[in-house]
Amino acid sequence: MKMNKVFIVGAGFMGSGIAQACAQSGITVMLHDISQDVIEKGLKNIAWSVSKLVEKGNLSEDKETILNRISSALDFSHGSDADLAIEAVFENAELKQEIFRKLDETCHKNTILATNTSAISISELASVTNRPDKVVGIHFFSPVPMMAAAEVIRGMATSDETFAAGEAFVRQVGKEPILVRRDVPAFVINRINYRANLEAMRLVEEGVTTVEDIDKGLRLASGRKMGPFEIGDIVGLDVTYGALMSIYETTRDPYWYPPAIMRNKVNAGHLGRKTGKGWYEYNEDGSRKEG
Ligand code: NAD
Repeated sequence: MKMNKVFIVGAGFMGSGIAQACAQSGITVMLHDISQDVIEKGLKNIAWSVSKLVEKGNLSEDKETILNRISSALDFSHGSDADLAIEAVFENAELKQEIFRKLDETCHKNTILATNTSAISISELASVTNRPDKVVGIHFFSPVPMMAAAEVIRGMATSDETFAAGEAFVRQVGKEPILVRRDVPAFVINRINYRANLEAMRLVEEGVTTVEDIDKGLRLASGRKMGPFEIGDIVGLDVTYGALMSIYETTRDPYWYPPAIMRNKVNAGHLGRKTGKGWYEYNEDGSRKEG
């Protein structure tokens, strides 16, 4: 049940990370996005990250061998013969449904269709295809090359074979699968983490404490590697915002509505490391500005 070719739609932070993980595992990758600039940026990031891992002696192959497994195309049809297609575009249900319609039309009838969504229902995305049994959630965590687990999410119509293929693929790329047996909003890991994020944002909003103290406290007192705001800046505030909104829209529970402190930052374009400003501010070289 090995995947030989994977088609990745979206060459952003996650799509490029997934492409790298696949290529490092010997899988041929076709990377697609809407602009050549975005693809080039994604490929550059992959090359940088692979170089670092090679330098550290973490990979058994050389950089060129790994990078040569990745091709790219603006033309969607280049991914049609893939064993697995993974959608990693913006966290927006309409956009993702549009991509799933296109994948269903263009991909071989046996191609498994996966989404890397953080919180959108797998069943809802599967419903726009003629192969809902072949649709599965495969939710990687960021940064993909460093994180050792990925969730495999079963939609209402996902077949046993597709769910097992998703699990096998996660192992194939060297990660531990976390099986999510029902399609619930935000799945498992985010469902837990987002609650902490919401509490953290509300505590800052209420003036109880600061962004810095929450991150410091969770690092030093709870044994986490990073605090929720530090992680939030890596993930992208727009990404978490999109995920929280989709949980809110599904559940209609105001608990999940993104707090004003986050909405304001997203509206201002303060999206985290990628824009140089989020919960913290960053220098050109990516280091954090002090004070
Ligand atoms: P990103 O903004 O870095 O990348 C999204 C990419 O989608 C962009 O390159 C954009 O050009 C592309 N895109 C938009 N419309 C497209 C279209 N019609 N066709 C092809 N490509 C298109 O976002 P990201 O952080 O990589 O997130 C992607 C997905 O992964 C989201 O669903 C997000 O919720 C999920 N996710 C993100 C993280 C994270 O830490 N950032 C973690 C887990 C899951």
